[in-house]
Amino acid sequence: MSHRSGRHFLQIPGPTNVPDRVLRAIDHPTIDHRGPDFAELTRQILPGLRKVFKTAGPVVIYPASGTGAWEAALVNTLSPGDRVLMFETGHFAALWHEMAKRLGLEPEFISGDWRTGADPEAIGQRLREDTEGSVKAVCVVHNETSTGVTSRIGEIRKAIDNAGHPALLMVDTISSLASIDYRHDDWGVDVTVAGSQKGLMLPPGLSFNAISQKALKAAEGARLPRSYWDWRPILAANENGFFGYTPATNLLYGLREALAMLLEEGLDNVFARHQLHAAATRAAVEAWGLEVLASNPREYSGSLTAVVMPEGHDADAFRKTVLDRFDMSLGAGLGKLKGRVFRIGHLGDFNDLMLAGTLSGVEMGLSLAGVPHRKGGVQAAFDVLTGAGGSAAATA
Ligand code: PLP
Repeated sequence: MSHRSGRHFLQIPGPTNVPDRVLRAIDHPTIDHRGPDFAELTRQILPGLRKVFKTAGPVVIYPASGTGAWEAALVNTLSPGDRVLMFETGHFAALWHEMAKRLGLEPEFISGDWRTGADPEAIGQRLREDTEGSVKAVCVVHNETSTGVTSRIGEIRKAIDNAGHPALLMVDTISSLASIDYRHDDWGVDVTVAGSQKGLMLPPGLSFNAISQKALKAAEGARLPRSYWDWRPILAANENGFFGYTPATNLLYGLREALAMLLEEGLDNVFARHQLHAAATRAAVEAWGLEVLASNPREYSGSLTAVVMPEGHDADAFRKTVLDRFDMSLGAGLGKLKGRVFRIGHLGDFNDLMLAGTLSGVEMGLSLAGVPHRKGGVQAAFDVLTGAGGSAAATA
Protein backbone atom coordinates (compact mmCIF):
# COMPACT_ATOMS: atom_id res chain seq x y z
CA MET A 1 0.00 0.00 0.00
CA SER A 2 1.43 3.36 -0.94
CA HIS A 3 1.77 6.23 1.51
CA ARG A 4 -1.24 8.50 2.02
CA SER A 5 -0.48 11.90 3.43
CA GLY A 6 -2.38 13.44 6.31
CA ARG A 7 -4.17 11.59 9.07
CA HIS A 8 -6.41 8.64 8.44
CA PHE A 9 -9.92 9.35 9.78
CA LEU A 10 -10.87 6.40 11.98
CA GLN A 11 -14.59 7.09 12.32
CA ILE A 12 -15.81 3.60 13.06
CA PRO A 13 -17.54 3.30 16.46
CA GLY A 14 -14.42 1.78 17.96
CA PRO A 15 -11.57 1.22 18.06
CA THR A 16 -11.32 5.01 18.23
CA ASN A 17 -8.51 7.49 17.58
CA VAL A 18 -5.83 7.01 20.24
CA PRO A 19 -4.64 10.43 21.46
CA ASP A 20 -0.93 11.25 21.26
CA ARG A 21 -0.72 11.54 25.06
CA VAL A 22 -1.88 7.94 25.37
CA LEU A 23 0.42 6.69 22.60
CA ARG A 24 3.38 8.34 24.33
CA ALA A 25 2.39 6.86 27.67
CA ILE A 26 2.32 3.38 26.14
CA ASP A 27 5.76 3.95 24.63
CA HIS A 28 7.68 3.12 27.82
CA PRO A 29 9.94 0.23 28.74
CA THR A 30 7.97 -2.77 29.93
CA ILE A 31 8.67 -3.24 33.64
CA ASP A 32 8.67 -6.18 36.05
CA HIS A 33 5.02 -6.89 36.71
CA ARG A 34 5.94 -8.28 40.14
CA GLY A 35 8.05 -5.27 41.15
CA PRO A 36 7.27 -2.18 43.24
CA ASP A 37 6.88 0.20 40.28
CA PHE A 38 4.17 -1.99 38.84
CA ALA A 39 2.30 -2.11 42.16
CA GLU A 40 2.37 1.68 42.18
CA LEU A 41 0.95 1.76 38.64
CA THR A 42 -1.97 -0.46 39.67
CA ARG A 43 -2.61 1.68 42.74
CA GLN A 44 -2.76 4.78 40.56
CA ILE A 45 -5.14 3.20 38.05
CA LEU A 46 -7.80 1.53 40.19
CA PRO A 47 -9.23 4.64 41.92
CA GLY A 48 -9.55 6.52 38.59
CA LEU A 49 -11.17 3.51 37.00
CA ARG A 50 -13.77 3.39 39.79
CA LYS A 51 -14.57 7.05 39.15
CA VAL A 52 -15.24 6.36 35.48
CA PHE A 53 -17.56 3.44 36.29
CA LYS A 54 -19.04 5.53 39.13
CA THR A 55 -18.58 2.76 41.64
CA ALA A 56 -17.02 2.42 45.07
CA GLY A 57 -16.62 -1.33 44.46
CA PRO A 58 -13.96 -3.38 42.69
CA VAL A 59 -13.17 -3.27 38.97
CA VAL A 60 -11.35 -6.27 37.47
CA ILE A 61 -9.08 -5.64 34.47
CA TYR A 62 -8.50 -8.39 31.90
CA PRO A 63 -5.93 -8.46 29.08
CA ALA A 64 -8.74 -9.41 26.68
CA SER A 65 -11.19 -7.85 24.27
CA GLY A 66 -14.74 -7.05 25.38
CA THR A 67 -15.94 -10.54 24.50
CA GLY A 68 -13.77 -11.92 27.30
CA ALA A 69 -15.39 -9.57 29.81
CA TRP A 70 -18.85 -10.72 28.64
CA GLU A 71 -17.81 -14.29 29.40
CA ALA A 72 -16.30 -13.29 32.76
CA ALA A 73 -19.58 -11.63 33.81
CA LEU A 74 -21.56 -14.80 33.11
CA VAL A 75 -19.19 -17.50 34.39
CA ASN A 76 -18.44 -15.73 37.67
CA THR A 77 -22.06 -15.37 38.72
CA LEU A 78 -24.16 -18.14 37.18
CA SER A 79 -24.62 -21.93 37.20
CA PRO A 80 -25.41 -24.43 34.42
CA GLY A 81 -29.05 -24.22 33.32
CA ASP A 82 -29.69 -20.81 34.94
CA ARG A 83 -32.27 -18.69 33.16
CA VAL A 84 -31.11 -15.25 32.07
CA LEU A 85 -33.24 -12.55 30.49
CA MET A 86 -31.66 -10.78 27.52
CA PHE A 87 -33.05 -8.17 25.14
CA GLU A 88 -32.49 -8.16 21.38
CA THR A 89 -31.27 -4.61 20.82
CA GLY A 90 -29.06 -5.60 17.86
CA HIS A 91 -25.99 -7.55 16.75
CA PHE A 92 -24.02 -7.34 20.01
CA ALA A 93 -26.99 -8.36 22.17
CA ALA A 94 -27.42 -11.32 19.78
CA LEU A 95 -23.76 -12.32 20.19
CA TRP A 96 -23.97 -12.14 24.00
CA HIS A 97 -27.13 -14.26 23.83
CA GLU A 98 -25.34 -16.87 21.68
CA MET A 99 -22.49 -16.94 24.18
CA ALA A 100 -24.91 -17.54 27.07
CA LYS A 101 -26.36 -20.52 25.19
CA ARG A 102 -22.91 -21.96 24.46
CA LEU A 103 -21.96 -21.66 28.13
CA GLY A 104 -24.90 -23.86 29.13
CA LEU A 105 -27.24 -21.15 30.38
CA GLU A 106 -30.88 -20.88 29.34
CA PRO A 107 -31.23 -17.38 28.00
CA GLU A 108 -34.61 -15.98 27.16
CA PHE A 109 -34.33 -13.40 24.37
CA ILE A 110 -37.00 -10.69 24.31
CA SER A 111 -37.20 -9.83 20.62
CA GLY A 112 -36.55 -6.31 19.41
CA ASP A 113 -36.62 -4.40 16.12
CA TRP A 114 -32.93 -3.27 16.10
CA ARG A 115 -34.12 0.37 16.15
CA THR A 116 -35.12 0.72 19.79
CA GLY A 117 -33.54 -0.04 23.15
CA ALA A 118 -34.34 -2.64 25.79
CA ASP A 119 -37.89 -1.99 26.96
CA PRO A 120 -38.08 -1.55 30.77
CA GLU A 121 -41.81 -2.33 30.65
CA ALA A 122 -41.30 -5.69 28.88
CA ILE A 123 -38.51 -6.64 31.27
CA GLY A 124 -40.64 -5.73 34.31
CA GLN A 125 -43.59 -7.69 32.92
CA ARG A 126 -41.48 -10.82 32.33
CA LEU A 127 -40.01 -10.61 35.83
CA ARG A 128 -43.47 -10.21 37.44
CA GLU A 129 -44.49 -13.45 35.72
CA ASP A 130 -41.44 -15.21 37.17
CA THR A 131 -42.97 -15.75 40.60
CA GLU A 132 -40.61 -18.56 41.55
CA GLY A 133 -37.51 -16.39 40.80
CA SER A 134 -36.08 -18.70 38.13
CA VAL A 135 -34.51 -15.78 36.21
CA LYS A 136 -31.07 -15.28 37.73
CA ALA A 137 -29.86 -12.32 35.69
CA VAL A 138 -31.03 -9.58 33.33
CA CYS A 139 -28.38 -8.76 30.70
CA VAL A 140 -28.64 -5.56 28.64
CA VAL A 141 -26.35 -3.80 26.17
CA HIS A 142 -26.33 -0.14 27.26
CA ASN A 143 -25.26 1.30 23.91
CA GLU A 144 -25.96 -1.07 21.01
CA THR A 145 -23.01 -0.35 18.72
CA SER A 146 -24.67 -1.97 15.72
CA THR A 147 -27.66 0.40 15.78
CA GLY A 148 -26.72 3.59 17.65
CA VAL A 149 -29.43 3.05 20.26
CA THR A 150 -28.89 3.60 24.00
CA SER A 151 -31.04 1.71 26.50
CA ARG A 152 -32.32 3.40 29.66
CA ILE A 153 -30.53 1.46 32.38
CA GLY A 154 -31.92 3.53 35.27
CA GLU A 155 -35.47 2.71 34.14
CA ILE A 156 -34.61 -0.97 33.73
CA ARG A 157 -33.31 -0.96 37.31
CA LYS A 158 -36.62 0.54 38.47
CA ALA A 159 -38.59 -2.06 36.52
CA ILE A 160 -36.63 -4.86 38.23
CA ASP A 161 -37.20 -3.25 41.65
CA ASN A 162 -40.90 -2.64 41.00
CA ALA A 163 -41.27 -6.31 40.11
CA GLY A 164 -39.59 -7.11 43.45
CA HIS A 165 -37.30 -9.50 41.58
CA PRO A 166 -33.86 -10.57 42.91
CA ALA A 167 -32.18 -11.09 39.49
CA LEU A 168 -28.70 -9.67 38.97
CA LEU A 169 -28.43 -6.80 36.47
CA MET A 170 -25.52 -7.06 34.03
CA VAL A 171 -24.81 -4.26 31.57
CA ASP A 172 -22.51 -4.11 28.55
CA THR A 173 -21.04 -0.59 28.37
CA ILE A 174 -18.41 -1.39 25.75
CA SER A 175 -19.41 1.54 23.54
CA SER A 176 -20.84 3.82 26.25
CA LEU A 177 -18.39 3.92 29.15
CA ALA A 178 -16.64 7.31 29.25
CA SER A 179 -18.84 8.52 26.37
CA ILE A 180 -22.41 8.42 27.66
CA ASP A 181 -23.59 9.02 31.25
CA TYR A 182 -23.29 5.73 33.14
CA ARG A 183 -23.62 5.00 36.88
CA HIS A 184 -22.76 1.53 38.11
CA ASP A 185 -23.64 2.16 41.78
CA ASP A 186 -26.58 4.57 41.42
CA TRP A 187 -28.29 2.30 38.92
CA GLY A 188 -27.70 -0.78 41.05
CA VAL A 189 -25.83 -2.62 38.32
CA ASP A 190 -24.24 -5.88 39.50
CA VAL A 191 -21.73 -6.44 36.72
CA THR A 192 -20.67 -3.78 34.22
CA VAL A 193 -18.78 -5.02 31.18
CA ALA A 194 -16.46 -2.58 29.37
CA GLY A 195 -13.59 -2.45 26.89
CA SER A 196 -10.56 -0.23 26.31
CA GLN A 197 -10.93 0.66 22.63
CA LYS A 198 -13.80 3.13 22.57
CA GLY A 199 -14.56 5.87 25.12
CA LEU A 200 -11.41 5.02 27.07
CA MET A 201 -9.35 6.05 24.00
CA LEU A 202 -6.95 3.09 24.21
CA PRO A 203 -6.03 0.48 21.65
CA PRO A 204 -8.01 -2.78 21.86
CA GLY A 205 -6.75 -5.30 24.37
CA LEU A 206 -8.15 -4.51 27.83
CA SER A 207 -11.59 -5.24 29.19
CA PHE A 208 -13.28 -4.79 32.53
CA ASN A 209 -15.87 -6.05 34.99
CA ALA A 210 -17.13 -3.63 37.66
CA ILE A 211 -18.66 -5.78 40.37
CA SER A 212 -21.31 -5.15 43.06
CA GLN A 213 -21.32 -6.80 46.49
CA LYS A 214 -24.34 -8.81 45.40
CA ALA A 215 -22.42 -10.13 42.37
CA LEU A 216 -19.43 -10.99 44.58
CA LYS A 217 -21.75 -12.99 46.80
CA ALA A 218 -23.26 -14.73 43.73
CA ALA A 219 -19.71 -15.63 42.67
CA GLU A 220 -19.33 -17.75 45.81
CA GLY A 221 -22.12 -20.10 44.78
CA ALA A 222 -21.81 -19.94 40.97
CA ARG A 223 -21.02 -23.28 39.34
CA LEU A 224 -20.18 -22.55 35.71
CA PRO A 225 -16.57 -23.63 35.13
CA ARG A 226 -14.17 -20.69 35.39
CA SER A 227 -10.44 -20.44 35.76
CA TYR A 228 -8.75 -17.58 33.92
CA TRP A 229 -11.83 -15.35 34.30
CA ASP A 230 -12.27 -16.01 38.03
CA TRP A 231 -12.55 -12.64 39.78
CA ARG A 232 -11.38 -13.87 43.16
CA PRO A 233 -7.63 -14.50 42.58
CA ILE A 234 -7.39 -11.27 40.59
CA LEU A 235 -9.03 -9.22 43.33
CA ALA A 236 -6.81 -10.87 45.92
CA ALA A 237 -3.65 -10.07 43.91
CA ASN A 238 -4.89 -6.50 43.26
CA GLU A 239 -4.89 -5.88 47.02
CA ASN A 240 -1.10 -5.67 46.74
CA GLY A 241 -1.05 -4.00 43.34
CA PHE A 242 -0.51 -7.18 41.31
CA PHE A 243 -2.29 -9.62 39.01
CA GLY A 244 -2.29 -13.43 39.07
CA TYR A 245 -0.97 -13.55 35.49
CA THR A 246 1.19 -11.31 33.29
CA PRO A 247 -0.84 -8.12 32.82
CA ALA A 248 -0.75 -5.93 29.67
CA THR A 249 1.77 -3.56 31.24
CA ASN A 250 2.03 -1.04 28.42
CA LEU A 251 -1.71 -0.79 27.91
CA LEU A 252 -1.96 -0.06 31.62
CA TYR A 253 0.44 2.89 31.18
CA GLY A 254 -1.97 4.06 28.49
CA LEU A 255 -4.95 3.51 30.78
CA ARG A 256 -3.38 5.64 33.52
CA GLU A 257 -2.97 8.49 31.03
CA ALA A 258 -6.44 8.09 29.51
CA LEU A 259 -8.05 8.19 32.96
CA ALA A 260 -6.10 11.34 33.79
CA MET A 261 -7.32 12.96 30.55
CA LEU A 262 -10.97 12.03 31.16
CA LEU A 263 -10.88 13.32 34.72
CA GLU A 264 -9.09 16.53 33.66
CA GLU A 265 -11.83 17.24 31.13
CA GLY A 266 -14.52 16.15 33.60
CA LEU A 267 -16.87 13.27 32.83
CA ASP A 268 -19.89 15.55 32.50
CA ASN A 269 -18.03 17.63 29.91
CA VAL A 270 -17.03 14.46 28.05
CA PHE A 271 -20.67 13.32 27.94
CA ALA A 272 -21.86 16.78 26.83
CA ARG A 273 -19.23 16.88 24.07
CA HIS A 274 -20.44 13.55 22.71
CA GLN A 275 -24.11 14.57 22.95
CA LEU A 276 -23.37 17.73 20.97
CA HIS A 277 -21.49 15.82 18.28
CA ALA A 278 -24.30 13.29 18.09
CA ALA A 279 -26.89 16.07 17.71
CA ALA A 280 -24.81 17.76 15.01
CA THR A 281 -24.46 14.44 13.17
CA ARG A 282 -28.21 13.81 13.28
CA ALA A 283 -28.84 17.34 11.99
CA ALA A 284 -26.56 16.56 9.04
CA VAL A 285 -28.34 13.26 8.35
CA GLU A 286 -31.72 14.98 8.45
CA ALA A 287 -30.55 17.74 6.12
CA TRP A 288 -29.21 15.14 3.67
CA GLY A 289 -32.75 13.72 3.63
CA LEU A 290 -31.49 10.40 5.02
CA GLU A 291 -32.78 8.50 8.02
CA VAL A 292 -31.19 7.79 11.39
CA LEU A 293 -31.73 4.12 12.29
CA ALA A 294 -32.58 4.86 15.95
CA SER A 295 -36.32 5.53 16.00
CA ASN A 296 -36.85 6.87 19.54
CA PRO A 297 -35.27 10.28 20.24
CA ARG A 298 -34.95 9.36 23.95
CA GLU A 299 -32.61 6.57 22.90
CA TYR A 300 -30.33 8.37 20.43
CA SER A 301 -26.74 7.34 21.05
CA GLY A 302 -24.11 9.90 21.98
CA SER A 303 -21.29 7.72 20.67
CA LEU A 304 -22.36 6.78 17.16
CA THR A 305 -25.04 7.35 14.55
CA ALA A 306 -26.24 4.59 12.21
CA VAL A 307 -27.56 5.99 8.93
CA VAL A 308 -30.03 4.07 6.76
CA MET A 309 -29.07 3.86 3.06
CA PRO A 310 -31.75 4.74 0.54
CA GLU A 311 -33.38 1.65 -1.02
CA GLY A 312 -31.28 0.18 -3.86
CA HIS A 313 -27.96 1.59 -2.59
CA ASP A 314 -25.28 -0.46 -0.89
CA ALA A 315 -23.77 1.04 2.27
CA ASP A 316 -20.57 -0.97 1.80
CA ALA A 317 -20.01 0.41 -1.71
CA PHE A 318 -20.48 3.91 -0.29
CA ARG A 319 -18.02 3.19 2.54
CA LYS A 320 -15.48 1.93 0.01
CA THR A 321 -15.77 5.18 -1.96
CA VAL A 322 -15.16 7.19 1.22
CA LEU A 323 -12.18 5.05 2.21
CA ASP A 324 -10.58 5.08 -1.24
CA ARG A 325 -11.11 8.78 -1.90
CA PHE A 326 -10.84 10.38 1.55
CA ASP A 327 -8.95 7.83 3.64
CA MET A 328 -11.79 7.66 6.15
CA SER A 329 -13.13 4.45 7.72
CA LEU A 330 -16.85 4.41 8.53
CA GLY A 331 -18.56 1.56 10.39
CA ALA A 332 -20.21 -1.24 8.41
CA GLY A 333 -23.73 -2.55 8.91
CA LEU A 334 -23.49 -5.67 11.09
CA GLY A 335 -25.57 -8.84 11.00
CA LYS A 336 -28.90 -8.27 9.30
CA LEU A 337 -28.00 -4.60 8.73
CA LYS A 338 -25.09 -5.48 6.41
CA GLY A 339 -25.11 -3.16 3.40
CA ARG A 340 -28.21 -1.36 4.71
CA VAL A 341 -26.63 1.10 7.12
CA PHE A 342 -23.31 2.80 7.67
CA ARG A 343 -22.22 3.99 11.09
CA ILE A 344 -20.47 7.24 11.98
CA GLY A 345 -18.43 6.94 15.17
CA HIS A 346 -18.19 10.21 17.12
CA LEU A 347 -16.79 8.88 20.39
CA GLY A 348 -13.44 8.94 22.11
CA ASP A 349 -10.80 11.58 21.44
CA PHE A 350 -12.82 13.79 19.13
CA ASN A 351 -13.60 17.48 18.64
CA ASP A 352 -15.70 19.86 16.55
CA LEU A 353 -13.29 20.11 13.62
CA MET A 354 -12.77 16.35 13.50
CA LEU A 355 -16.56 16.03 13.27
CA ALA A 356 -16.64 18.71 10.56
CA GLY A 357 -14.04 16.74 8.58
CA THR A 358 -15.91 13.50 9.11
CA LEU A 359 -19.24 14.87 7.95
CA SER A 360 -17.58 16.60 4.99
CA GLY A 361 -16.16 13.23 3.92
CA VAL A 362 -19.59 11.64 4.23
CA GLU A 363 -21.31 14.42 2.24
CA MET A 364 -18.72 14.34 -0.56
CA GLY A 365 -18.84 10.53 -0.50
CA LEU A 366 -22.62 10.54 -0.97
CA SER A 367 -22.15 12.68 -4.10
CA LEU A 368 -19.30 10.57 -5.50
CA ALA A 369 -21.13 7.29 -4.84
CA GLY A 370 -24.30 8.61 -6.49
CA VAL A 371 -26.41 8.23 -3.35
CA PRO A 372 -29.51 10.44 -3.59
CA HIS A 373 -29.37 13.18 -0.97
CA ARG A 374 -29.72 16.92 -0.49
CA LYS A 375 -26.74 19.22 0.05
CA GLY A 376 -26.36 21.14 3.28
CA GLY A 377 -25.82 18.45 5.91
CA VAL A 378 -22.43 19.81 6.91
CA GLN A 379 -23.90 23.32 7.23
CA ALA A 380 -26.71 21.98 9.41
CA ALA A 381 -24.10 20.36 11.66
CA PHE A 382 -22.16 23.66 11.86
CA ASP A 383 -25.36 25.36 13.04
CA VAL A 384 -25.69 22.87 15.88
CA LEU A 385 -22.02 23.20 16.82
CA THR A 386 -22.22 26.99 16.91
CA GLY A 387 -25.57 27.09 18.69
CA ALA A 388 -27.53 28.34 15.68
CA GLY A 389 -29.17 24.98 15.17
CA GLY A 390 -32.66 25.24 16.71
CA SER A 391 -34.45 21.96 17.34
CA ALA A 392 -31.61 19.51 16.67
CA ALA A 393 -29.40 21.29 19.21
CA ALA A 394 -32.22 21.16 21.72
CA THR A 395 -32.11 17.35 21.70
CA ALA A 396 -28.40 17.36 22.57
N1 PLP B 1 -20.44 -5.37 22.98
C1 PLP B 1 -20.50 -4.22 22.29
C2 PLP B 1 -21.61 -3.24 22.58
C3 PLP B 1 -19.53 -3.94 21.32
O1 PLP B 1 -19.60 -2.80 20.63
C4 PLP B 1 -18.51 -4.90 21.07
C5 PLP B 1 -17.50 -4.64 20.03
O2 PLP B 1 -17.55 -3.70 19.30
C6 PLP B 1 -18.50 -6.07 21.82
C7 PLP B 1 -19.48 -6.27 22.76
C8 PLP B 1 -17.46 -7.12 21.60
O3 PLP B 1 -16.25 -6.64 22.07
P1 PLP B 1 -14.83 -7.08 21.45
O4 PLP B 1 -14.97 -6.96 19.98
O5 PLP B 1 -13.88 -6.09 22.07
O6 PLP B 1 -14.57 -8.47 21.90
